[in-house]
Amino acid sequence: MTFQTLGLTTDLLRAVADQGYSEPTPIQQQAIPAILQGQDLLASAQTGTGKTAGFTLPLLQRLSADPTNKGHRTPRALILTPTRELALQVGDSVKIYGKHLPLRSAVVYGGVGIVPQIQALRRGVDIVVATPGRLLDHLGQKTLSLAQVEILVLDECDRMLDMGFIHDIRKILAVLPASRQTLMFSATFSKAIQQLANTLLKSPTLIEVAPRNTAAEQVTQIIHPVDRDRKRELLAYMISFHNWRQVLVFTRTKHGANRLAEQLTQDGLKTTAIHGNKTQAARTRALNDFKQGKVRVLVATDVASRGLDIDQLPYVVNFDLPDVPEDYVHRIGRTGRAGNEGRAVSLVCHDEYSRLRSIEQLLKRTIDEDVISGYEPTAPAQPGADSSNRKRSHQHRSDRAKPQTESNRSRSKNNSTGGRSKRLRTA
Ligand code: AMP
Repeated sequence: MTFQTLGLTTDLLRAVADQGYSEPTPIQQQAIPAILQGQDLLASAQTGTGKTAGFTLPLLQRLSADPTNKGHRTPRALILTPTRELALQVGDSVKIYGKHLPLRSAVVYGGVGIVPQIQALRRGVDIVVATPGRLLDHLGQKTLSLAQVEILVLDECDRMLDMGFIHDIRKILAVLPASRQTLMFSATFSKAIQQLANTLLKSPTLIEVAPRNTAAEQVTQIIHPVDRDRKRELLAYMISFHNWRQVLVFTRTKHGANRLAEQLTQDGLKTTAIHGNKTQAARTRALNDFKQGKVRVLVATDVASRGLDIDQLPYVVNFDLPDVPEDYVHRIGRTGRAGNEGRAVSLVCHDEYSRLRSIEQLLKRTIDEDVISGYEPTAPAQPGADSSNRKRSHQHRSDRAKPQTESNRSRSKNNSTGGRSKRLRTA
């Protein structure tokens, strides 16, 4: 199947060709014709599936096919996203795919001055990409009217609900025209999402593409059991020993992200942190430095990482396992993209095994363990924590690379895998 056969116009086909896309992804194959026909949509698709082009291309086509915005432009399409980063990325996609079309767009998000946004809106826009809080600020100040919106996109809907945006979303829905096309995208289909879909969508087309990373063909997932207080040392060792050049590391807390970034910097690894307490400018700068290879390690919290579009990221490390199992899927979705192989490494200490079990239940599979010699956990795993069919191997490092003292090694040996079968392998 080609983009031509999906019914896109020449201007959009040119933009797609400029991006070097040779064929539409599965979500694009299904979403583009449905949206072009004006249908409502409920799509299960996460970042990395090509969903942004899946809704942006047909949205642009529908707006340009019927250029009603002749005088002053008021927004005809609204795209809501949970985070500032995602809003910026979707805003970029709108510009990239719409570059041969005479449509105007603006991105509206918090954490930056509101005045430039007001000025952009005053000049007139066709498409607004927004996070809910700042959009409500604009509505409150009457710097924006949504009365002409024809297409509403709710991107990463599950995340918006997780982040407590449901009330904001309802307030926004209240000022939108009832007659419109609504497109909902969500990585997961919880009851709350289905309830929202029932109230918002009219005879929607349902699209479900296999979540790439639960299928995980392109992502090798591995667990390294290790004591909590040795995680940082093990991480620094792995980055240096394997000479990883670009690693995204997840922590559960902002404080943990800051502390880890400081410690890794002290270890001589160029590291920066990205989380909700950083200003938007600092987050954008950190992401750009990471993309350009100026920093080697980016430490991120789950919220800050949503929607990060970093192509061909080879390594993702879970320094802590997330509280919400779905976040694991989102995290490892940063690697193994666009046909490239990726590796998702989780450093798991004994009190994280219940989280690991929840993740494995969601994935419907167990993740193999690999004990790194010299970093064997001293604390026992929780009773019943280990799945009988989990493969465990034991990795030896070369003597040259071993940073451990003899006493540490023998202590680790005495507390080794507690009778579980293990495969010995030399690194
Ligand atoms: P998304 O799921 O929207 O975050 O997109 C993930 C990545 O896939 C982005 O870097 C897009 O540029 C890229 N992409 C989108 N559509 C295609 C396509 N048809 N072929 C190759 N790459 C694509």
